[in-house]
Amino acid sequence: MGSADEWVRRDAAVVWHGFTQMACYADNTPLVIERAEGHELIDVEGRRYLDAISSLWVTTLGHRVPELDQAVRDQLDRVAHTTMLGHGNRVVVELAEALAGVVPVDGPHLLFASDGAAAVEQALKIAFQYWANRGVEGRTAYLALGHAYHGDTIGSLSVGAGGFGTDLFDPLRFPVVRAPGYDDPRALEVAAGLVGDHADRLAAVVLEPLVQGAAGMLLAPPDGYATLAEACRRHDVLLVCDEVATGFGRTGTLFASEQCGLRPDLLCLGKGITGGYLPLSATVASQRVFEAFLGPDLSERTFYHGHSYGGNALAAAVALRHLGLLTPDVLAGVRARSRELHELLDERVAPLPAVADVRLRGLMGGVELDPPRDGLRWGRRVCAAAVRRGVLLRPSATSSCSSPAHRHVR
Ligand SMILES: *Cc1c(COP(=O)(O)O)cnc(C)c1O
Repeated sequence: MGSADEWVRRDAAVVWHGFTQMACYADNTPLVIERAEGHELIDVEGRRYLDAISSLWVTTLGHRVPELDQAVRDQLDRVAHTTMLGHGNRVVVELAEALAGVVPVDGPHLLFASDGAAAVEQALKIAFQYWANRGVEGRTAYLALGHAYHGDTIGSLSVGAGGFGTDLFDPLRFPVVRAPGYDDPRALEVAAGLVGDHADRLAAVVLEPLVQGAAGMLLAPPDGYATLAEACRRHDVLLVCDEVATGFGRTGTLFASEQCGLRPDLLCLGKGITGGYLPLSATVASQRVFEAFLGPDLSERTFYHGHSYGGNALAAAVALRHLGLLTPDVLAGVRARSRELHELLDERVAPLPAVADVRLRGLMGGVELDPPRDGLRWGRRVCAAAVRRGVLLRPSATSSCSSPAHRHVR
């Protein structure tokens, strides 16, 4: 056993935490979790915390959901993992069939991976090769939005907008056509215009429908997407929706694309796909995209890409059971809880002088602080105070939220 301090010391000695300055990791009173129950995390000293960030947006129905626990156990008695390269696995077929019935994509075909960034990376490469396979030259660029976050691999970092301390990698990023982010009310309209201007060199438009999560929960109006979707159709540019964060009920519908009236050519899924149990992601391609890759065996039309653990059977089994649990009632519950939370935030949090804005879509929400000057680490301090009161929150990227353009975006 040992005390929490002792576990933090052991942790800091050997574990390198992502997005974390390890020189002061231990000083920021990190939690070392041992187990969980429902919505609560329990640390090594038995203290309980409300997991208000859903373990960074992956947990959907809580921890230790009996049906999901059982799905993993049952699959363990069959097989944990077999390769998807050139062969199939029963539970993965069943999951793909179930997802194909609910994703907002026409004639869906699913390529599985393990992380959201990999799902985005796959979508980027598929979009690129789609044009090559069709013999169209020059369609090699992407249009992406300001403040976008699509993951940390080089390709997903390239369509991402930077910030989050990643500017160092700018020389490794490929250039993209950049529209404004959701803090600009004209973002989608400008993006639609840019599609027209750059159509002959665009392979795809990549966006996070409805909510730019990592940017600080920036919101776009659902009815703003029609013009952009129409521009993509008219100029024959592929549309990639990154629903790694917004998928699986987070915004009150199974997918945010539904609310936006979008039917993307490529859809990226991750995070909540397994209810937060195991790493799994997927790139969903429409029939017309998929068909462009059909050709003779071993030909250059094949998509030469695949991850060792893509379509892991344990993850697929829990994802399949989880999808069955996301009933219309559960989604209605998300919308009802969202209304309650919105009222309470408006009543108790929004009027505080230290608060610049409160943003919420479904159960994705953020409170933007209004510190009198930079460098006060208010986000860090507020979250530490919340943890002392038994609620785990997380300060979002300071780079995007400290820019004046982000203030007062009600
Ligand atoms: C988290 C996230 C990703 C990256 O997913 P990982 O599993 O962390 O690689 C991609 N896109 C969006 C919108 C995300 O929120």
